[in-house]
Amino acid sequence: MPAPRKLSGLRDVFHSFGHSVVESLLYPPLLPRDIFGYGAGSEISEEPALYRRPMSDQEWRQVLLMLRERVSVLDKEKLGALVHHSEERLRWLDAAMARYCEATCPSCEDPCCHGRQVFYNRTDLLWLLALGREWPPGQTRQLSREPCRYLLRDGCGLSRALRPYVCVWFLCDAQMGLLREEPAIFQRHFVRILEEMRMLRLRLESLYRHHSRAEDDLAAPHGP
Ligand code: SF4
Ligand code: SF4
Repeated sequence: MPAPRKLSGLRDVFHSFGHSVVESLLYPPLLPRDIFGYGAGSEISEEPALYRRPMSDQEWRQVLLMLRERVSVLDKEKLGALVHHSEERLRWLDAAMARYCEATCPSCEDPCCHGRQVFYNRTDLLWLLALGREWPPGQTRQLSREPCRYLLRDGCGLSRALRPYVCVWFLCDAQMGLLREEPAIFQRHFVRILEEMRMLRLRLESLYRHHSRAEDDLAAPHGP
């Protein structure tokens, strides 16, 4: 059940595998620049922190309904391609992360899911809408003092595709140790999948921003 207590960024993961691996991953580009037919597809380099905060269930619904309306006018073909490529990578990640969690989480003395700083951000919400499945009932917590509502006795109650993405890719120290023991080709593939996922999510944000006025979101209702 990976979720960040202390977040190590993707950059940290890259550093742990050395600069040459990073370079080999970046050149040539991991995904063709025009794979979705709109140039590089991402004019942004970071996901917005928008909505990364405690939120009432009512606000959560309002925000998702507002975003759903906007997502409904996005190019269906591009959106479908983004979902398809992301789901492929998520399936691969799911198998690897499930294996690591099985090995490390049952004996963990300080589960990361007890951290209070894990939230869905706007890109996560766009992803939930693009996926087209029933969305989870709310933000991870309505009040900052509350634990994550999805943490059950035996781990996370959400499928990996529906979790905040930070809960998908986060590797704690114990799991980083396991990854380092893997064959180099597997490590490179792992890093490549993470980088591709990052790019796909930025492209989703980019596609959304292309058709929306980002400042509108700032007018969205705020929680407690
Ligand atoms: S072993 Fe790692 S991923 Fe699992 S609960 Fe503990 S800190 Fe989290
Ligand atoms: S959604 Fe909550 S329970 Fe699930 S992995 Fe993230 S922090 Fe843990």
